[in-house]
Amino acid sequence: MASAPTTEPLFRDDAYMPSCEAVVTDVTADGGVVLDRTVFYAAGGGQPGDAGRIELSDGTMLAVPTAVYGPDRASIVHQVAETTSVPSPGDRVVAHLDWDRRYRHMRMHTALHLLTAVLAYPVTGGQIGADESRLDFDIPDGGLDKDAVTEALNALIAGDHSVTSEWITDAELEANPGLVKTMSVKPPMGAGRVRLVRIGEEVDLQPCGGTHVLKTGEIGRVVVSKIEKKGKQNRRVRLQWADS
Ligand SMILES: [Zn+2]
Repeated sequence: MASAPTTEPLFRDDAYMPSCEAVVTDVTADGGVVLDRTVFYAAGGGQPGDAGRIELSDGTMLAVPTAVYGPDRASIVHQVAETTSVPSPGDRVVAHLDWDRRYRHMRMHTALHLLTAVLAYPVTGGQIGADESRLDFDIPDGGLDKDAVTEALNALIAGDHSVTSEWITDAELEANPGLVKTMSVKPPMGAGRVRLVRIGEEVDLQPCGGTHVLKTGEIGRVVVSKIEKKGKQNRRVRLQWADS
């Protein structure tokens, strides 16, 4: 029996690649396309899967509304909108991101890291979007001032801190549970090593498998649009772009 196909996640080392050449390794029962390598982020950790197109060797463009992990998380499946001209294993294709949408996700995602630095409380949930994102915090008392949070966040953004990554082993992470801020999203463990994302020297450090900008200044100004009470100890903080 052939081993299950794996996909090299190019976005992990270079989140700024908008396209890549690849070889089709599998086509799922419902027409999803698995590639040997991809720039498409697969939905996970509160970040949506990327959208874009797969260009076949004859120039045909297949619309890809999203990308998801295969059942083993080793492969990434590019879901296709219509399955009339799906390629075959062995075909060479080019994967193109909807870069505008992805870059917004990268900026929002990095802004949420900064939000956890401003609000140093456990995170219980979250969702990233191209226009609005949110994080839920376990905060015993209310009294959060959304203008003050907006101001602190924009100060960190304007600080133009570097965003870098480093790797530790699963065992090192288990020995330092304080690194995990997000209780609802398990860090991407199981492969023997976990990526930590660091902002500045000491602004933020946490395990994360998502896509980020390289400098916080790229995020641009954001605004805390709403702070909602969700349950006794839960506060939902919503972020939007300041210029939209
Ligand atoms: Zn992240």
